[in-house]
Amino acid sequence: MPAEAKGSGPIDAEVLVVGAGVAGLRCAAELHEAGVDVRVLERSAAVGGRIRTDVVDGFRCDRGFQLLNPAYPAVRRYVDVPALRLRQFGAGALVRREGALATVADPRRAPRLVVPTLRSGLISPREVAALARWLAPVLTRPRSVLEAPDTTLSAALTEAGVTGPLRRELLEPFLAGVLADAEGVTSATFARLLLRSFALGAPGVPEDGMRSLPEQLARPLGDRVTTGIEVVGVRAGAAGVEVDAGDRTWRAEAVVVAVGGEAVARLTPLPPVPTKSLTTWWFASDAAPAPLPLIAVDGRRRGPVQNALELTSAAPSYAPAGHHLVEATTLARGTDSSEEAAEGEVRAHLAEIYGIDTRAWRLVIRHHVPHALPSQPPPLSARQPVELSDRLLVAGDHRDTGSIQGALVSGTRAAHALLRRRGPAHRPAAT
Ligand SMILES: Cc1cc2nc3c(=O)[nH]c(=O)nc-3n(C[C@H](O)[C@H](O)[C@H](O)COP(=O)(O)OP(=O)(O)OC[C@H]3O[C@@H](n4cnc5c(N)ncnc54)[C@H](O)[C@@H]3O)c2cc1C
Repeated sequence: MPAEAKGSGPIDAEVLVVGAGVAGLRCAAELHEAGVDVRVLERSAAVGGRIRTDVVDGFRCDRGFQLLNPAYPAVRRYVDVPALRLRQFGAGALVRREGALATVADPRRAPRLVVPTLRSGLISPREVAALARWLAPVLTRPRSVLEAPDTTLSAALTEAGVTGPLRRELLEPFLAGVLADAEGVTSATFARLLLRSFALGAPGVPEDGMRSLPEQLARPLGDRVTTGIEVVGVRAGAAGVEVDAGDRTWRAEAVVVAVGGEAVARLTPLPPVPTKSLTTWWFASDAAPAPLPLIAVDGRRRGPVQNALELTSAAPSYAPAGHHLVEATTLARGTDSSEEAAEGEVRAHLAEIYGIDTRAWRLVIRHHVPHALPSQPPPLSARQPVELSDRLLVAGDHRDTGSIQGALVSGTRAAHALLRRRGPAHRPAAT
């Protein structure tokens, strides 16, 4: 529990934001736009938090495979998507089955793949109808789903009658990688919201890497963002806030702690948020592993790889000319990277999934992300309070949903809460 700030003195900024992830940057940008003097203090050497890109030998490797979905409402509202030059992926998946690599695609967006989809062996009218019934409310009235009772993804699919090969061989392995949850214990409401965004938009990666997203959010803030400075203490009291960082104490009228769920307890009275880890392996190959650049999963669920995707067919800028970049996501069994799959296992499993020889593939880099996502068991609470006191606020995906959408919304909510206190001149539109 942080101690109270003592006394008053000259302030360094009206509002200090701790953390330059998407949530902190979005919060600071909203405040800055409203004329508030804001500063962001970030521990790492660059902005972005969980959204960074390493360029290794000309390959763009995001720090953990992730995609930007332009259908997220907050992305539509706060991100200049055209400026990111998004390279979008097809609306479908490759599924390793016994003896075949099946293709399943959304018939509305990939009509030319209807025939292989129908022949995939994964489509039965009864299961497709059950899935459509389960998804219909989130597609037409998403708010009603947020208000309805929640359960685990696994229980919800069973209850909805989604019990066939489409679930076992495609939905479950696909969602295991996306949710970092191989057991299906995540909130069904969150899974449905994610599937809604996949149904409404084609996710992709910015031409220059996922880092372009936080870089865009940070641009209007200029030198108001200070990187390489770790906040080690936050004290909020009636007189203002004091923030210990980089051998000095910063003073402000209010602070927004926008750190990840695992770090929030160090700076606020909130308990730590349990998180889930995953690992992304980036391989270089001389040829595309499959004729279609679709996400690939093992329907038999035999190995460590949850999903694999060749990025370069859709996003050629992710590799030097003539090369291909393939990601593979594996789930770690804890926050200790020693419990991970070995490279040989990953390579062998990729060979099985694609049905090709992967021995000549070169491992470019491997990213172990110990706190990739907040664990989101049911019931989902998608709007947790962001105001801990008049002067101490909190933002981050753990306040809303574990996604870029959730992080953007949480940052906006914290900014709006502060602006509301400043009176009618600063009153924000609804979040
Ligand atoms: C591998 C992976 C795949 C993902 N896939 C997707 C996807 O496909 N689609 C999607 O929508 N979302 C995805 N996500 C989730 C998404 O990236 C996150 O929800 C979002 O980036 C969280 O942003 P944030 O600002 O809340 O937190 P963070 O990005 O964690 O930002 C917190 C910041 O606070 C800083 N900080 C922490 N402590 C201190 C301190 N004491 N002092 C100063 N600074 C501090 C950190 O360095 C960090 O920069 C994925 C995440 C990962 C890791």
